Amino acid sequence: MASRGATGPARVIDGVAAAREVYLGLKARVAALGRVNVRPALTAVLVGDNPASRIYLRNKMRACEKAGVHSEVLELPAGSPPRTLLATLEKLNADSAVHGILVQLPLPRPLDASLVAQSVAPAKDVDGLSWHNLGALLAGQPLFEPCTPRGVIALLERAGVEIDARQAVVVGRSAIVGKPMALMLMARGATVTICHSRTRDLAADTRRADILVVAAGRAGLVTGDMVKPGAAVIDVGINRLPGGKLAGDVDFASVRAVAGCITPVPGGVGPMTIAMVIANTVTAAERSVAPAAA
Ligand code: NAD
Repeated sequence: MASRGATGPARVIDGVAAAREVYLGLKARVAALGRVNVRPALTAVLVGDNPASRIYLRNKMRACEKAGVHSEVLELPAGSPPRTLLATLEKLNADSAVHGILVQLPLPRPLDASLVAQSVAPAKDVDGLSWHNLGALLAGQPLFEPCTPRGVIALLERAGVEIDARQAVVVGRSAIVGKPMALMLMARGATVTICHSRTRDLAADTRRADILVVAAGRAGLVTGDMVKPGAAVIDVGINRLPGGKLAGDVDFASVRAVAGCITPVPGGVGPMTIAMVIANTVTAAERSVAPAAA
């Protein structure tokens, strides 16, 4: 992407439109699978009754419909012991009609999300968060790239942002966003800096970024004065403000004035994260038919 300099407002990268295009592309792949009698299927497991989790799951199930992917939700009561959840996952692992398995987070106590992720078969771990899949990513041989960073890469590609040989800064070091994001940018040729809560001078680092990905969970953390003119700014953060509105980690108005392109919240990374779960499910189904080809 050509840098715009500090002159105009940044181009807004539309995550909803990008996701819609992903679903269109997936439909053709789903149709091809249909010709060999395979219907890609995603099963989500919901433990307990968290209202936010229900909304997220409903969005994922709707997204499945858009791509022609079969979806199901298995519900377990909040007090379910670990062995019940693990037995459910074992059954799904063994079911050849299920291609993708998703355990909706957060899990109620005493269930341990990190442990539970290890109980999903790597070939069906469409979230890409099992240690097997994170290790494969670290080794440069990803099986499924984690969905949020994969969505970020797809948005950068859609916006025509060059990654190779650019300076990328990732704010946040979580195992589900920050760390895999840094690996994936590095794998595509970027020089990557990871910032986190112990970083001394965040602005000094962010100002060097051609590509700035922010995943800290702090509303308005990054402001216009912290951004290099023309930079691509991707806001992963989702924060609920006191009035109930959603906000990202980036102060949209001030950053838009200097950046080259920027994602909004909502309507940026969120829809693409969901699209990548569905895309990984279709890939899993393709691999079940022709393991070496997909
Ligand atoms: P997390 O709490 O696990 O990690 C946050 C990271 O930010 C930590 O590594 C911490 O060191 C860093 N951090 C916190 N305050 C900081 C500061 N002041 N300066 C620099 N770094 C700071 O969170 P997470 O799971 O990685 O999620 C991050 C955000 O992204 C949250 O708002 C979450 O809701 C959102 N999220 C969005 C999607 C999506 O689909 N859009 C998916 C996953 C997470």
